Amino acid sequence: MKKVLSLVLVLALAISLVACGGAKNDNVLTMATNAEFPPYEFMEGGKIVGIDAEIGAAIAEKLGKELVIENVDFDSLIPGVQTNKYDFVMAGMTVTDERKEQVNFSQTYATGVQVIIVKEDSKITSVDDLFAEGANNKIGVQLATTGDLYCTWDIEDEGLGSVERFNKGADAVMALNSGKVDCVVIDNEPAKVFVANNPGLKILDTEYITEDYAIAISKDAPELLAEIDKALGELIADGTVKNIIEKYIPAE
Ligand code: GLN
Repeated sequence: MKKVLSLVLVLALAISLVACGGAKNDNVLTMATNAEFPPYEFMEGGKIVGIDAEIGAAIAEKLGKELVIENVDFDSLIPGVQTNKYDFVMAGMTVTDERKEQVNFSQTYATGVQVIIVKEDSKITSVDDLFAEGANNKIGVQLATTGDLYCTWDIEDEGLGSVERFNKGADAVMALNSGKVDCVVIDNEPAKVFVANNPGLKILDTEYITEDYAIAISKDAPELLAEIDKALGELIADGTVKNIIEKYIPAE
């Protein structure tokens, strides 16, 4: 009986330790992003600015917390949230079924479209040209983005072409400029910024796929998910999110 009792005590102690362990600074919310994705996140005067930075700040304010933004590679965002290194990710991140197995997502706050950037005189004139038998295009993408995933599945794995992966979208665009790749598949808003900065490039009218952006949160933090989702819902309802988006993406 004594043994059982002490075992129960030891177990109870272990459980309470686990429950307390990992508690972070309660006043700080850490948001991870990859500041290579204008106008959602980019560096300006040594600061991370953009739509996600502002929405993240508005959420932190609603929750009464201080926001700290960490700038990391796109492919470390999900692992970082899974290991609770960061509280949440805002990075123009598309909700996909695969990612849903790794993290929780908030409601969506914006839409993205995978588009194709080519040189103005490119023989690639539509999305279909990427899937054409024997086309054998070299497609530049940012590593681990949905552009990478879809082009890998739809084109590289099908033997229709190859995918060149870059750490930054801007590097993929540079490779297009220098003829190392035939096109770049990337989200429409950064695509517009990159094309505006690189004469001789254009975005094809046909779209690859439309996606939803959302905030990624660890599966270990359902309460935080609920809090962030509620704050985001209020910021959508009162027009704050719309105003922030329109500040960076003026209506055409
Ligand atoms: N929306 C894309 C994705 O989630 C790209 C995001 C990004 O490059 N920041 O994969």
